Amino acid sequence: MFVDSVDREGVAVEYDYLILATGASHSYFGHDEFEQFAPGLKSLADAVSIRNRILRAFEQAEAEEDPQSHRDLLTFVLVGAGPTGVEMASALADLVRRALRSEFRRIDPTSARIVLIDMGNRVLATFAEKLSAAARRRLEKLGVEVRLDHGVEHIDADGVIVAGERIASKTVIWTAGVAPSPAGKWLKAATDRAGRVRVQPDLTVTGHPEIFVIGDTASLDRDGHPLPGVAQVAMQQGRYAGTLIHRRIGAKPVPPPFRYFDKGNMAVVGKGFAVLQSGRLGLSGFLAWMAWAAVHLEFLGQSSLRVSVFVQWVWTYLTGQRGSRLIVNHYASTKHDARS
Ligand SMILES: Cc1cc2nc3c(=O)[nH]c(=O)nc-3n(C[C@H](O)[C@H](O)[C@H](O)COP(=O)(O)OP(=O)(O)OC[C@H]3O[C@@H](n4cnc5c(N)ncnc54)[C@H](O)[C@@H]3O)c2cc1C
Repeated sequence: MFVDSVDREGVAVEYDYLILATGASHSYFGHDEFEQFAPGLKSLADAVSIRNRILRAFEQAEAEEDPQSHRDLLTFVLVGAGPTGVEMASALADLVRRALRSEFRRIDPTSARIVLIDMGNRVLATFAEKLSAAARRRLEKLGVEVRLDHGVEHIDADGVIVAGERIASKTVIWTAGVAPSPAGKWLKAATDRAGRVRVQPDLTVTGHPEIFVIGDTASLDRDGHPLPGVAQVAMQQGRYAGTLIHRRIGAKPVPPPFRYFDKGNMAVVGKGFAVLQSGRLGLSGFLAWMAWAAVHLEFLGQSSLRVSVFVQWVWTYLTGQRGSRLIVNHYASTKHDARS
């Protein structure tokens, strides 16, 4: 039977062990009023909603008579040039140059302006400088306007203000920051400056060997720096906590403190280009993109799925054809599926 999470609200559940993995959500750095104008990307529902917004802007521009409104509708601003902002800006550039190119009669989708803003002095700041520079060059080649060294000062329904200049836009997307879930407050536990729960080397909360906090909600240092908020950390911590509990229950020796095995980071910058950093190895371009594709195929559970995704990718790569450009209501469809 499908049980809505709302049905369980307020129901006390006893536990022997508790693993808190409540992740992170968007942070507007004290400007929560920006949220209504600049949605963030965290979940699949957010992704569908942003995709709808982008497609709708093109539809509206096609129907609009006033050329000034065309410009505002076809200007897309992304705030934050980390992996999410860079990947989205380049995907959007690919979309307007290839998939949407000949879809409209009155407007020219390739005239769309894509502006990527960051207050730091480079894109992909967690990557090596050489890779950041390669990513920036690639973005600019794709037609993305990269504006660094200034954060947005204001966002409203008509666009953003950055370095005192107004950029008129009907579609602003927040790709800047995340804040951890309030698990630290629930537990009344010590947190780091970002609000993540400080955990012991075995991922438990001080004074509570039965409570584990893992993933984006947890803060654990390695060589004096906190572990990054990435999926690999969350997955490895999940496995570690599971093993530790299993061993404790079986009265077996517990494993040594958690150690993160960093397999490296990657970001895709449009079709056929990625940056990859693993230890001392730094790679950018098509080879890095091939590595990115291989890693993602490897993570698919079934080999039949790997083959079908691989064939689909090759088809998309060669033909430039993407999936349907329907504007859909994600919530309506998932709720129906879950209950049927
Ligand atoms: C757009 C985007 C792209 C990313 N790309 C990459 C990437 O390429 N590589 C990479 O390694 N990492 C990437 N990350 C980061 C990665 O997704 C996170 O580090 C990872 O998901 C953290 O896992 P988690 O289990 O801690 O939290 P999450 O995956 O966020 O899961 C937390 C879950 O807890 C639920 N929850 C929250 N509060 C409650 C509550 N009170 N009660 C019950 N449930 C609750 C949430 O609904 C959510 O389902 C990306 C993140 C984003 C947003």
